Formats: sequence, C-alpha cells, structure tokens
Amino acid sequence: MKNILLFLIILLQTALFGDNNPLYEIRGESSEIDANLTQFLKQWRDNTTKPIEDGNYTNIFLHADITKGKIVALTFDDSPDENNTDKVLDILNHYNVKASFFMIGSPIQDNNATVVKRAFDEGHLVLNHSFTHPHLKTLANDEIIQELNATSEKIESITGHYPLLFRPPYGDVNQQVMNTLNTNGYTTILWSLDSLDWAIKNKDAIIENVINHIQPGDIVLMHSSRANQSSVDALPEIIEKLQQLGYKFERLDEMLGIKAYR
Ligand SMILES: [Zn+2]
Repeated sequence: MKNILLFLIILLQTALFGDNNPLYEIRGESSEIDANLTQFLKQWRDNTTKPIEDGNYTNIFLHADITKGKIVALTFDDSPDENNTDKVLDILNHYNVKASFFMIGSPIQDNNATVVKRAFDEGHLVLNHSFTHPHLKTLANDEIIQELNATSEKIESITGHYPLLFRPPYGDVNQQVMNTLNTNGYTTILWSLDSLDWAIKNKDAIIENVINHIQPGDIVLMHSSRANQSSVDALPEIIEKLQQLGYKFERLDEMLGIKAYR
C-alpha cells in the first residue's frame, strides 16, 4: 500500500514538475535577488544536488521522506547572538513549535551561553555549524576535524549533549569534505527550501518565498543571528500561514528518524 502511494506521489510530482526530480531539488527564489546572485545560486544548487542524486555524497539530507505528509522542519543558522536568537525562541515558544538550531562555536561566550542552554531546554535541537564559519573546501582535513569537534565539545559543555548533525557553512561541500564528515561520525544536513533571509531584507518577500515554494518534507533554511532582523519579523507569519496550509513542525531528528546527539 505504501509503495503504491509513493508511486502515485512520484507520478504526480513528475506531472507537476516535469523533468526536475523534486527529491533532489533546492528551491527558493525572489525578485528581490539580482540576476547574478540568482545565477550563482542555480549553479551552486546544481553542483550540490547532482552528486547526492548520483549517490556520491552519502549520509546527507536535503529533506524528509515525502510520504510522511505535510511535515516541515524549520532550521536556524548562525546563532548564538545576544538578541535575535532569544527573539526567535520567544516566537517558537508562543506557537509551541520545535525547531533545530545550527550554532557557530566561536561566538558562544559567557554572555550568550544562556541562550544556547535555553534553546536546548525549550526542546529545540542545538547542532553544529562549525567553529569559525569557514569555507570547508579551503581547509585541510585536520582543520575540518578541529572545526567540527571544537564546536560539538563547546555545545556539549553547555547543553550536556554532543551534536552529530552538522550543517556546512554556505552549504559548501565536495567529495573530500563529505568523506571527512562521514569518517568522523557526522550527518550532513542541507536544506530543500532556502528562505533567502540572508539575502532579502524585506520580510514580506521572505514570507512569500517560503509560502509559495513549500512542499511536504521540506527542511527550511533560516537564520537567527544579529544580522537577521528580517527573519525574526517574518517568522510569526510563516508559522501561521504554514499551519493554515496544514503543515506540522518537527525537529530534524523526528522528521528524519536519526540521532541528533552522540
Ligand atoms: Zn551560516
């Protein structure tokens, strides 16, 4: 029965989306973004999804199993900071939505360790987004391992849990980076829908982009650092509109059926 359902969904998606296989697609676009950036993004998306589709990158996720229905995971990168991370947590708390945070190690200091702990205590995942936010492709293997482990150790010292889910800064991976991540026990999480909140500073354009492109099983990329006031402003309406469309929110570990921590 489940196989027939899956077959029908794939058939429907093929009819709707033509040649593009939505299983290996990264969506999100806006007229607020200029032609050069749009072209750059298309190139990056093609270069990233192709090796996943071909099976060369393993242990990497763009989205959940689409047969699970209208489920979506909100993910927030680049925290912690002293301001917007708390605001995002306030909004999630208000709507009783659980989300996943990919935090950077080096900005975690005494003055914001409380928000790291708060995110964990309120039921969100606190995960690894490297120590200094570098382009991993430019680093040697031992430097990549240092970026990974220093961050997971710092997060563990605050939350008591050592993250095993990793999001590469800029989504920047190649075969060597993937091999290093896998050898060191990390699962790589990218996204299937980019809110583009890092490029668009207009809250309505962010909301429109997410709502117009959402699909079941999406992992939505958002940000919650000090530079992302527009993401904070867009979040309540994104949650409300997705709920009106019948979407439920899950953490990555629930949605993907994987372990978030060691
Ligand atoms: Zn980032």
